[in-house]
Amino acid sequence: MEHILQFNQYLELLEHHTAFAALPVEEQIQVLSGVISYADWSYYVKDEAIIADSTYDAYFKQLQHLEEQYPDLKLPHSPTQRVAFGISEKLETVQHLVPMLSLNNSYNEEDLKDWNDRNVKSYKQPFEYTAEPKYDGASISLVYENGQLLRGATRGDGIYGENITANVKMIRNIPLYIPLSQYGLQSMEIRGEVIIPNKAFLKVNEQRMAQGLPVLANPRNAASGSLRMLDAGEVAKRKLSAVLYHISYYTLLPGAEKPGFLDTHYTMCEWLDKVGFATSFHAMRKSSDMAEILAYCHEYEEKRDDLGFEIDGMVLKVNEVAIQDALGMTTHHPRWAMAYKFKARQATSRLLDVHFQVGRTGIITPVAKIEPVYISGVTVSSISLFNEDVIREKDIRTGDRVIVERAGDVIPYIVRSLSEMRTGAETPIVFPRQCPVCGGEVIKVEGEAAYKCINWNCEAQILERLSHFASKDAMDIRNLGDANIRRFYEMGILHRIEDIYRLPYERLEGLEKLGKKSIENLKNAVEASKGQPLNRILFGLGIRFVGETTAKTLARKVKDLREFQHWTIEQLLQLEDIGPKVAQSVYDFFHDEQHIAMLDTLEALGVQVHQEIAQRPADGSSLQFEGKTFLFTGTLHKFKRNDAEEQVEAMGGKILSGVSSKLDYLIVGEAAGSKLEKAKKLGTVRILTEDEFLALIGIS
Ligand code: AMP
Ligand code: ZN
Repeated sequence: MEHILQFNQYLELLEHHTAFAALPVEEQIQVLSGVISYADWSYYVKDEAIIADSTYDAYFKQLQHLEEQYPDLKLPHSPTQRVAFGISEKLETVQHLVPMLSLNNSYNEEDLKDWNDRNVKSYKQPFEYTAEPKYDGASISLVYENGQLLRGATRGDGIYGENITANVKMIRNIPLYIPLSQYGLQSMEIRGEVIIPNKAFLKVNEQRMAQGLPVLANPRNAASGSLRMLDAGEVAKRKLSAVLYHISYYTLLPGAEKPGFLDTHYTMCEWLDKVGFATSFHAMRKSSDMAEILAYCHEYEEKRDDLGFEIDGMVLKVNEVAIQDALGMTTHHPRWAMAYKFKARQATSRLLDVHFQVGRTGIITPVAKIEPVYISGVTVSSISLFNEDVIREKDIRTGDRVIVERAGDVIPYIVRSLSEMRTGAETPIVFPRQCPVCGGEVIKVEGEAAYKCINWNCEAQILERLSHFASKDAMDIRNLGDANIRRFYEMGILHRIEDIYRLPYERLEGLEKLGKKSIENLKNAVEASKGQPLNRILFGLGIRFVGETTAKTLARKVKDLREFQHWTIEQLLQLEDIGPKVAQSVYDFFHDEQHIAMLDTLEALGVQVHQEIAQRPADGSSLQFEGKTFLFTGTLHKFKRNDAEEQVEAMGGKILSGVSSKLDYLIVGEAAGSKLEKAKKLGTVRILTEDEFLALIGIS
């Protein structure tokens, strides 16, 4: 992004309101667009926030406002294009400028050495190679003309792809403008891969499961499915990211000379990095020594699980473009590149049995028990089959041999059953007509593949409900783990959520593994949970479709959870990210008298279901951190970032996303990087260790 050299000047201008207001509108638009684009690049490519979220939002709104007033002055690459509008009916087909080929695959060192030998033989000189990760996502092509991002396309059949320009603009680390003319270039086609980070993938599936939709098998499918969605607004939510690694086509401006960086793969990627793309450049090794290249591949194979996204191998390329051209290509793949595939993280096993688990909302999930298999570091013996549709589609039967895959830190799943190996002894999986736990009635949830036990007093539901309520992300009641919940339930003293707050502690004494100290701890944890913020109570209630984020959105709107009994579906739908299913579920929950009665009882037992402002000190003094801003950086060991941020907010403080003059406190963990540097440079930020932070909030 070196072409936005004026960034600092721009930012200064923006901070001096009078100077900024004195500029002609055209320049105001230019300054705002420049700052926003630069901030996007810094955040999404370099992973470093340089202005606070609130400031960013303010500039963005200001730019949108100016563009509305002066549509003629809107820049063709304005960052406001990143706001989705409308839904397309279908994706159009487009022809690629140069065919998008596949790669030749190799699975061992011998193949690679042979490939090198062939190259050397036909070329009579040592080769320089590059090695870089093979990103496991969906390939894309981007076309830029006169610097503007003109078109994005999927690979399709390699000759024709689908036009996904609107979606590509939602991927924030893809620049909308690159300074082609500075390099004598008129147009360019760039290739790369769109990936979905593992965390984002898990989140997508969590949501889909909550909504009764089929889960996506792996990050690769999720990336390619996301790219092809018709609603760009949905694409924006998926947190996709793109890595670019190839320039496949370019045209020069009249009279211009071909720039030197186009001569090798290495320098091409270096250039892509320089003009603002996320690229494979920083993950690339260049060498004419095959042994070194191989060592690099192995190094990457070792750390593939720690990357946070999926790679399925490495790609070796001949560095010199002139030699690439001489080696040419087949109709299937270029001869100058070779994929070195990592060992598949798949194994075959046998499906022994299917158990049906009843969750806290009564939804029944089939779980396959398989002969234990070892896949990249873990032994897998049980796998969720999600729902009946998955079983039918994949035609999975008890006794089948199955292929099991495990990707990164993503949950294992059954890829398919090896139906060709059946003996006839396999039996179809039958969904129970009655709840496997309580024997009660099971119904099929309308519009979903899910079955559900509708007995509120079902033991499985009760135990899951209690366990969810006490869990770390809900009320965080330590010592009330699943084992104790079950014990107390069997003793007849814990049945409903309210019972947690009227446990007869005297009866617990003498129970196995429950000494005086543990009981004391349990008592304290139960007591402490009474003051948990509303969002945690709400999340803990286990309302279907209400995850942590939704609970936060809802809790912000009320002072008392019982207020929701007066809310209409329409009012709920007004809230951010709350769709019809969630709204209906929340509505139903709070329009059930039993639930309101439960909240009344909880209040009578001391749980704060009514909170004027979260955790305002009892003596009425103002919140300790009011008006103060905080940021955490580096690896934290003494507490979780989420918990600490929540604590700060509960005490009136605000979390910023980047270091700026507005930041009051930076809390640094291990290996803190550029944020710490920047804070030191500013000199106005108070820098705290984890211990100092704990002391500040009164825990030490
Ligand atoms: P395959 O689909 O297994 O034949 O692999 C070929 C695909 O690998 C290409 O179409 C690219 O989408 C993808 N790929 C991922 N990373 C790279 C990379 N660094 N260089 C080239 N291709 C890559
Ligand atoms: Zn049941």
